[in-house]
Amino acid sequence: GSTWASVPQGPPVCITEAFKADTFEEKINLGVGAYRDDQGKPYVLPSVRAAEDNVISKRLNKEYLGITGLPEFTKAAAELAYGKGSSALERLVITQSISGTGALRIAAAFLARWYPGEKTIYIPTPSWANHKAVFSDSGLKVEQYRYYDKKTIGLDFEGMLADIKAAPKGSMFLFHACAHNPTGVDPTQEQWKEISEAVKAQGHFAFFDMAYQGFASGDTDKDAFAVRYFVEQGHNICLAQSFAKNMGLYGERVGAFSILAADAEEKKRLDSQVKILIRPLYSNPPLHGARIAAEILGTPALNQQWLGEVKDMAERIITMRALLKQNLEKLGSAHDWSHITSQIGMFAYTGLDAPAMDKLAKEYSVYATKDGRISVAGITSGNVGRLAEAIYKVKG
Ligand code: PMP
Repeated sequence: GSTWASVPQGPPVCITEAFKADTFEEKINLGVGAYRDDQGKPYVLPSVRAAEDNVISKRLNKEYLGITGLPEFTKAAAELAYGKGSSALERLVITQSISGTGALRIAAAFLARWYPGEKTIYIPTPSWANHKAVFSDSGLKVEQYRYYDKKTIGLDFEGMLADIKAAPKGSMFLFHACAHNPTGVDPTQEQWKEISEAVKAQGHFAFFDMAYQGFASGDTDKDAFAVRYFVEQGHNICLAQSFAKNMGLYGERVGAFSILAADAEEKKRLDSQVKILIRPLYSNPPLHGARIAAEILGTPALNQQWLGEVKDMAERIITMRALLKQNLEKLGSAHDWSHITSQIGMFAYTGLDAPAMDKLAKEYSVYATKDGRISVAGITSGNVGRLAEAIYKVKG
């Protein structure tokens, strides 16, 4: 028999198959995790186009990068996350990564090898589905803490704090820095302060995943609040950054993993171990996307332009949230839809259950995930009316 005769068929990992098969012209895809413009088309930021032109015109060579990537890029990425002039930058270990997923994977491998306590990481309920897969494939044990409250369609803050306090001292906790995926529900700044206190009191280790900096509020500093506050409070965090959403560099795979050392001497040791981890994984990261990101972050005029474009993307999403809510109210929906506008980032958690989502797909050609999450980036001024009607007919 074949060597692979006992390999079972796995479940599909992609959610767009049913959408592709639907021939209805006005079908709506709200499953995509990528920004779309108001015509529903993929969007390349003008600042990215300009930066790419600059990079190409320099006629640079294609030699390998070092193991930790393009220094101009990692320096700028660190400043973007931690703040220009932050004293933490001096003791920061940072490496370029294969976007956010790669950063999570390096982080998990580092923690699996070097974290001195229990190798258990707590992630929110729910979380981005890949968190559990990345962490358990890297050898970490995954547990969950309470996060989303079905009844209020908001944050279960009490439950979250209670679970942080109940976890064994010195546990690892993963937090979404902003624009929680899939719920769009974030703690307030005051709540982050309490979370920081609780994490500190228990001696836990804080790990931030920041895949949407700038994309949530439109302001990269505001979206970095939790990360910077924790650092100010003395947490030596680690951080996964992605430039997929905020620069629209999805397929270029641009990201960074960083970890704060206690001092310069510790930084050297950690840096050596990060290199030892990455070398047998993929030797060194890709060049092109990092050059584009470095060009944007390092050229003042382009940087300004980019910040404006991030803001425009965030604002289009915020506008679509408002329009969806308005349209549902105009139709006479009896439900409270205020969560649609209070949630933040690319996704909205509608509160619709799996049968309702199924009906949306089968009867109205509106496709999203069964958990009721819709990508607001897939809503346009052209389809929001039809979408609201479909939701109204399914849910009332
Ligand atoms: N973390 C979260 C919470 C995400 O939503 C995503 C993207 N869907 C990622 C990380 C990583 O994405 P990428 O690897 O494309 O940067």
